[in-house]
Amino acid sequence: MTEHDLIVIGSGPGGYVAAIRAAQLGLNTACVEREPALGGTCLRVGCIPSKALLESSEHFAAARASLAKHGVKCGNVTLDLPTMLVRKDKIVDGLTGGIAALFKKNKVTRYAGHGRIAGPSRVEVEGEAGKSELRAKHIIIATGSKSAPLKGVEPDGDRIGTSTEALAYDAVPKHLVVIGAGFIGLELGSVWRRLGADVTVLEYLDRILPGVDTEIANEALKLYKRQGLKFQLGCRVTRASVKGKQCTVQYEGGEPITCDRVLLAVGRVPNTDDLGLDIVGIQLDERGRVPVDEHFRTSANNVYAIGDVIRGPMLAHKAEDEGVACVERIVTGYSHVNYDAIPGVVYTEPEIATVGKTEEQLKDAGTKYRKGLFFFRGNGRARALDHVDGKVKVLADAKTDRILGVHIIGPRAGDLVVEAVAAIEFGASSEDLARCCHAHPTLAECVKEAALAVDGRAIHA
Ligand code: NAD
Repeated sequence: MTEHDLIVIGSGPGGYVAAIRAAQLGLNTACVEREPALGGTCLRVGCIPSKALLESSEHFAAARASLAKHGVKCGNVTLDLPTMLVRKDKIVDGLTGGIAALFKKNKVTRYAGHGRIAGPSRVEVEGEAGKSELRAKHIIIATGSKSAPLKGVEPDGDRIGTSTEALAYDAVPKHLVVIGAGFIGLELGSVWRRLGADVTVLEYLDRILPGVDTEIANEALKLYKRQGLKFQLGCRVTRASVKGKQCTVQYEGGEPITCDRVLLAVGRVPNTDDLGLDIVGIQLDERGRVPVDEHFRTSANNVYAIGDVIRGPMLAHKAEDEGVACVERIVTGYSHVNYDAIPGVVYTEPEIATVGKTEEQLKDAGTKYRKGLFFFRGNGRARALDHVDGKVKVLADAKTDRILGVHIIGPRAGDLVVEAVAAIEFGASSEDLARCCHAHPTLAECVKEAALAVDGRAIHA
């Protein structure tokens, strides 16, 4: 029986990063993955392919509409969807192949097949070649998540599908109905809207993007509507059916909607099927997650869990940080993940990026805060880019001035939020951020101005 110091089950951003870090720290490490490609949902059918299509579709929309403003006339712009999809697939292939190369470089052993815990310190791998058993001192469960089901809406792998299908439609839908106005629904709804589809987003709540600061989410809703996305809020979808190429979506209190594609995007649930958790006595919590302590230890000795399969936001970078912290703790005895400094980004146009507490969370907690706002339209670089929609909001403790939250909607918000993450990580005040010299002309000056605005002294507002 092959023996390792550590076996990681799952090769998504949590699992593969944990495996590489463990190997760097000297552990004899293996990673079990049942898909042919490494990288998990994020690389194969999530973050990366969706960003590829967001980028391509943005170019298409710009060529058709906004480039003329720059004096760039494109004539009759047409869509070559097969080329767009091939480009996306090439990016995915390059990156998943890159992880295989990193595994080789770091001497991480890769096992192909479904991994399940077979007993204390034992993992069974079931693949094309049959079953084999491995031993390891430590086991990390990093099996990620899958699309959450919705009663009455049965994906058929074609007309009614999840994000996986929506990344590969072979033609632009005439009418796409998106169920759920979360990250996935809005990103992929944006892609197909830009490529010419009518898109209707049906959302159960009376707002979009639950969890995102309300002022920012409201601004996003206004801007998405301007792009032609249609929304029905307070709308609980109860059923979807297909006949030929036509789908019908039913919801409470309204007339059924017909369309040719349905995207189910009502959240994700942890992947815990057939993992052998019961064999080592691990019981899932009320939301189907693997319970862990602050060091990612499960109730079973030397079995750990990280990423989407445990509590916290289902984000690739959160899983990566947990993977690193988990193995560093195993090897060195020290590690820490600061959950107050984990950013979230929605890659629509404009982007939305947030870190720290929302205004609602501060109000609910009774925390006294001061707020600084700055609008991109007051920024020279934003004007040069012709991306002037949106704003930056900095929330700081009323007494200490410590930054508690930063929320951005605007161009390249996902890149701009990085300095806010660093500021929160280092316990900076809004004064600290405002006194940092920001290059001119950059979009980042908006972050500085919003920090100045906390004290009522923005220059360009
Ligand atoms: P989500 O939880 O963000 O949003 C799902 C939405 O569906 C919610 O607004 C919910 O109210 C709504 N909903 C639920 N039941 C409904 C019903 N019956 N009818 C209508 N609406 C209903 O989920 P998601 O967008 O599927 O994303 C899943 C996870 O993946 C999230 O945790 C997200 O963080 C992650 N993700 C992140 C990114 C990113 O970082 N850019 C991108 C994609 C996904």
